[in-house]
Parts: sequence; C-alpha cells; structure tokens
Amino acid sequence: MALFIQVEVDPKVAADAAIVKQLVEVCPVNIFAQKPDGGLEIVEKNLDECTLCELCLPPAPAGAVRVKKMYGDGEVLCRKG
Ligand code: SF4
Repeated sequence: MALFIQVEVDPKVAADAAIVKQLVEVCPVNIFAQKPDGGLEIVEKNLDECTLCELCLPPAPAGAVRVKKMYGDGEVLCRKG
C-alpha cells in the first residue's frame, strides 16, 4: 500500500489497450503495467516513486487519470481539458 501517492484511472481508460500502452511508455518509474488482455495494472510497489511529472495525463481524456498526493496540500493532478 502506497503512503504518499494514489493513482486513479477511469475504468474505461484502464480497459483501453492503446491508452494503457502509452501510459506504460511515458511513466518514468513504471507505475503502469499492461496485463496480457491489454488492460491496465497499477504497480502498487512503485507508486511512491511518482515524480509528479504529469506525463501520464495527456494520453487519456480530461479527468481520466488522477494522481493524488496523500501528503502536504493533498493536491490532485489531472488533465483539465
Ligand atoms: S505523474 Fe509521472 S511518475 Fe507519476 S504516475 Fe504519472 S507519469 Fe508516472
């Protein structure tokens, strides 16, 4: 269980193999993995390595990927538009 970061992905996006592939490619710390069926797997053990780089936001529609800081101001990073 990650202490500092939570990543939420809309179920539709999590089932979209093309978007999942992009998420896997962009995240520098391998928080996203692709299951054999093409669906998304969040790699829990890597969550706290998140650098808040926001590279995972553009591949998915607005609001579909949300990176939540569980500390400080509790900011949520998500694509607005
Ligand atoms: S913000 Fe960056 S490090 Fe964090 S999950 Fe997204 S791509 Fe990975």
